[in-house]
Amino acid sequence: MPELPEVQVVVNGIIEKFLNKEIAEIIEIRPKTVQYFTEVEEFGKILDIERRGKFILLFTDKKLKIVVHLRMTGKLISEETEDYLPPHARAYFVFKDKTRLIFDDARTFGKIQIYQQNAKIESIEKLGVEPLTDNFNEKYLKNILKNKKAPIKNLLLNQHLVAGLGNIYVAELLFRAKISPKKEGGKLTSKEIVKIVKETKSVLQEAIKHNGTTISDYRSIYNKTGEFQNFLKVYQKKICECGNEISRIKQAGRSTYYCPKCQK
Ligand SMILES: [Zn+2]
Repeated sequence: MPELPEVQVVVNGIIEKFLNKEIAEIIEIRPKTVQYFTEVEEFGKILDIERRGKFILLFTDKKLKIVVHLRMTGKLISEETEDYLPPHARAYFVFKDKTRLIFDDARTFGKIQIYQQNAKIESIEKLGVEPLTDNFNEKYLKNILKNKKAPIKNLLLNQHLVAGLGNIYVAELLFRAKISPKKEGGKLTSKEIVKIVKETKSVLQEAIKHNGTTISDYRSIYNKTGEFQNFLKVYQKKICECGNEISRIKQAGRSTYYCPKCQK
């Protein structure tokens, strides 16, 4: 699933290619891909594009907010031709200049939702802080981890606490911080919390710089894979750089990769 860096790279691509372009129509190929929460006469011109957690938000001059969630396998692909569609195209934006932005999604969990600009969207309202902002700091993390019995890995994956992290980056940031994913959140020391904040920011920034991580499906809007998979240290790895075997365990139903020698 695309995580914060991949979604940010998609957002950056949309800004490059589609900012200030006018949407002529949104064509739905697979029913229930596009959901309307308001009536639409005209979509209008895209004035602003933002990321919140793993959501993409497009704001138009017709006071609309278009929310795209890529979920497992969703991609937004820029297409210059007027008729080509990739095999898993579920919907597409057509712009007044005839260029298109195609929503391709093999697993079909992704959605395009259309709201009024000021609509409150529960799943977005409930998101925790953005880890690349100054609000994600030692004080915030200490506060949310206080008395928590759950393992740190599960807490960092909780979108209501920190927005945008997923299985890959939590594994990598805990490796960099040398902290076991099994450690109880409430038992982390101040020093460990500082390390987590620092390594979260640095791994996300590096991943964005390398256009995200492609394990299987993720592509940028230019239909290119990311490169950060070449820099992963533990996620889906067998041997740690220390020479020890990487352990693979299940936590909350999901695979966790870590080095028991390097991470305590
Ligand atoms: Zn190791």
